[in-house]
Amino acid sequence: MMKVYNSLSRRVEPLVPAKDNEIRLYTCGPTVYNFAHIGNFRAYVFEDVLRRTILFNGMKIRQVMNLTDVDDKTIRGTNAAGVALTDYTAPYKKAFFEDLDTLNIQKAEVYPAATDHIPEMIELVGRLVEKGVAYRSEDGSVYFNVRKFPGYGKLAHIDFDAQRTGARCAADEYDKENVGDFALWKAWEESDGPVGWDSPWGRGRPGWHIECSAMSMKYLGETFDLHTGGIDNLFPHHENEIAQAEAATGKPFVSTWMHCAHLKVNGEKMSKSAGNFFTLRDLEEKGWSGREIRYVLVAAHYRQGLNFAFSALEDARRSLARIDQCVSRATDGEIPGWAKARAEAFTEAMNDDLNTPRALAELFGLVRDANTKGAGGTLAAFRRMDEVLGFVFPRDGGKKEAEIPPEVRKLADERAAARKAKDWALSDRLRDEIAAAGWIVKDSRDGQTLCSKSGI
Ligand SMILES: [Zn+2]
Repeated sequence: MMKVYNSLSRRVEPLVPAKDNEIRLYTCGPTVYNFAHIGNFRAYVFEDVLRRTILFNGMKIRQVMNLTDVDDKTIRGTNAAGVALTDYTAPYKKAFFEDLDTLNIQKAEVYPAATDHIPEMIELVGRLVEKGVAYRSEDGSVYFNVRKFPGYGKLAHIDFDAQRTGARCAADEYDKENVGDFALWKAWEESDGPVGWDSPWGRGRPGWHIECSAMSMKYLGETFDLHTGGIDNLFPHHENEIAQAEAATGKPFVSTWMHCAHLKVNGEKMSKSAGNFFTLRDLEEKGWSGREIRYVLVAAHYRQGLNFAFSALEDARRSLARIDQCVSRATDGEIPGWAKARAEAFTEAMNDDLNTPRALAELFGLVRDANTKGAGGTLAAFRRMDEVLGFVFPRDGGKKEAEIPPEVRKLADERAAARKAKDWALSDRLRDEIAAAGWIVKDSRDGQTLCSKSGI
């Protein structure tokens, strides 16, 4: 049985579908104002491993991931660029799906975009106003009144009752009645330019939080099994989602909440000013493959902080080479008892709150055993592990030497000669030429290998 850590109960609990043996899962998606960065992808890879483990256990899944295509950042971008909002976000949506593919992330069942669901959001805000838990402020914005929802703070485990008196005083300078109140609907302002929709409260746009409550309930029902995101989404975003949904329906919103921990790069918080801010594309340009990046993201347990460093990518490259070498000798046929035992221990590790470090130890145990005892019959065990890990086999089955175009092969040979002659400048120049032709050279102790950029 699959067990996971539930942020709501703060316990490890069995993950069991409420109906039809199908887990209904909502995952907070990207804001499409830019290319997603490696920290975002940590969450999406975690959710992919979760999805694959659910399927691995014989359950069905219905996964919804939203695309936030209207918010402060997209509006700022669209007005700076002087193009329509949909034209501004379209290339980033496209890039997002390309990046998911690079990382071998399985597709969700539904990717609703916020701008396609404005009527649903207006309807939900209307219900909250009708129930008296939301109010319209002077300027035409609508706020959720956190004091009217007794369960507020249950996900973040914060007792807001104890803090309310002080908060009311501090809120005097705002339109809001309490500091903790959050916008469900934001009144149109000058800086919004042409972006806006008409509503019963005047022209404006939805708040970010309402987007997820409205779209999750539309596609998964008023109560569903599982909701995930990065830990930075837990408060206030997920807390607000619960408040909006439960205040409107009077029913429990989600049974299980899961959150993955932060990612740091070279031990520091990722930021553009620190020079350690990487999109997936930045890393690909540096010669790292989606498979190698996926390996690093999967190898750490999702609830542990992950330090993303280039040394980790180098380790991943070496580890994958070891796997490839072994898997190339693996065959179908009757699976040996020791390989079966490894596969079973692997399953147990994954079902124990997605314990990927332990699962990887079993994968490398299988490699070690197969190297000493023979790889005959082990292919099924590797395939089973790949269903969850998604990096055991190269995506394209490994680029064959024969598929490398002759001109690229020629450049690679010249580069090998340049390296032998220790002409590093020429070697680097040839590497760039090879990259321009769509291939990546990887150096190892045994010489150089070529991979297609579009492949693994
Ligand atoms: Zn969300």
